[in-house]
Amino acid sequence: MRVIRVLRAYKTELALNHSQITACKRHAGAARWAYNWGLRRKQEAYAATGKAPTAIELHRELTALKQIDVPWMYAVSKCAPQEALRNLDAAFAHFFRRCLQRKTGKWSGKVGYPQPKSKKKGLGSFRLNGSIVVFSDVIQLPRLGRVRLKEREYLPVTPTSGVKLFSATVSEQSGRWYVSIQVEQEQSVPDNTGPVVGVDLGIKALATLSDGTVIPNPKRLKRALKKIKRLHKAVTRKEKGGNNRKKAARKVGKQYQRIAHQRANTLHQVTTRLAKTKSVIVIEDLHVAGMLRNHHLAQAIADAGFAEFRRQLTYKAAWYGARVVVVSRWEPTSKRCSQCGWLDTDLTLADRVFCCEACGLTLDRDLNAALNLRKLAASSADSQNACGEDRSGRRSEDDGETVPGEAGTKHVEVPCGLMR
Ligand SMILES: [Zn+2]
Repeated sequence: MRVIRVLRAYKTELALNHSQITACKRHAGAARWAYNWGLRRKQEAYAATGKAPTAIELHRELTALKQIDVPWMYAVSKCAPQEALRNLDAAFAHFFRRCLQRKTGKWSGKVGYPQPKSKKKGLGSFRLNGSIVVFSDVIQLPRLGRVRLKEREYLPVTPTSGVKLFSATVSEQSGRWYVSIQVEQEQSVPDNTGPVVGVDLGIKALATLSDGTVIPNPKRLKRALKKIKRLHKAVTRKEKGGNNRKKAARKVGKQYQRIAHQRANTLHQVTTRLAKTKSVIVIEDLHVAGMLRNHHLAQAIADAGFAEFRRQLTYKAAWYGARVVVVSRWEPTSKRCSQCGWLDTDLTLADRVFCCEACGLTLDRDLNAALNLRKLAASSADSQNACGEDRSGRRSEDDGETVPGEAGTKHVEVPCGLMR
């Protein structure tokens, strides 16, 4: 048993009364206004002088502006606009980073120039810091006061020894309000003596483990797609700009949110179970972005949430003393016989059963892949636990130059670094 300090967030739903909803909308509005105002100011200043003001400079400017032009902002906590301006700085930092990565060929996606926020896309969110106190079923926030929580005893009550609270973010989604608190806390990591397991992520089954366990895919999106289609149709039948259309659109949003919650629940259950019961978990570095471009697979893959699976597994492994080994996506785990190593070069995605022509092994395709992954853990067992920076799938960009086939085998150890 050892103790580590982890950064993590807890998100839970709020039970707001009417005046609190109004106050939250006002805060979210102020944050949105500040973000959009800051974006305009940055653009103007950059066009004029070639240099954009920072969040601190903008906040100073805004404080002066408040007295004459935007007196309504006095009704909200000063944190809301201030943190929004910080978010804007972060958005620009990410944009510049991606521009640089694009130049060096490490990023092929959009560079994402910061866009103004629109109320039409959702009420949005705001972040508060300062005096935040958490009770078992209530959270006390600056300006908003005591707000009831829908779930009791989920958030770590302050002051709990070893828990440091940084900030609280309040957000709205489909008419529900949530709070997410960012904390640093101590976590005692147990001595994990579980077995080594290879996990093959798939579309037929969410995951196949090398011990033969098959975790079925809930495929909730597909099942709920019919209902969504119907709801979408209802929207288009309503008059544009009318109240009924808005109501119908809200229903679609709620249905999507429902699916998202169910999916998140399944993923959390699976990743927690794996991290708690296995000592080494070997997964494949699937190139999710590349697979999503393939339209036949796209929906099913997005549904299964591969990238999210890996992200959760990585941070949970650190909490429960497990190790995640990521195997290069060039490793032919599906095509190789897990018993004798014979390579089936003709194997296609449609072949669900693996038949070895050398030793006669016949077994489920996914199980064969999982067994291969498990083997790869053994071959890399003595490799050092490299503690570099790796944040989930983004790293895969670096592996692009690896030669396909056996020679290109590369094991990337996921360190127990940053997590949320
Ligand atoms: Zn064989």
